[in-house]
Amino acid sequence: MTPAAYLRLRRAAAGLSHEDAAAALAPRIADRSLAATLLRLWETDGVIGEAEDIARLSHVYPLDIFVYRQLCEEPADRHPRICTGCGCSANDACVRNLSANCHWIADDLCSACSESVTVSPAAWMRHAINRTTGEGLRA
Ligand SMILES: [Zn+2]
Ligand SMILES: [Zn+2]
Repeated sequence: MTPAAYLRLRRAAAGLSHEDAAAALAPRIADRSLAATLLRLWETDGVIGEAEDIARLSHVYPLDIFVYRQLCEEPADRHPRICTGCGCSANDACVRNLSANCHWIADDLCSACSESVTVSPAAWMRHAINRTTGEGLRA
């Protein structure tokens, strides 16, 4: 997963459009287009944000700075496990209720997403194939 894809997933999982996130980042309407430009830049594959800037973005929607940095700096085989439906990880699991967080139901899909219609079609279909055939996931 690219750092940009991670940010796209986390923003969408928070239920925020680009405009919503820009509004949260820039309270003054005059600054909104600047905020929108910045958000789109960070969500462009190949672009890497500075840690201090992404830390500020984490006040707009939940994301994990450590996960982001690993995606930026580490080779793919050392990337953290991330849900392809919502971008959650062991560092910032989905909070389902007061007593339980999400858990992994496949290599790249968390339990919250498996129960949700917002899961990406590809992630759901891979999981459905595994459920149907009874085989462990590894596409
Ligand atoms: Zn998920
Ligand atoms: Zn989750």
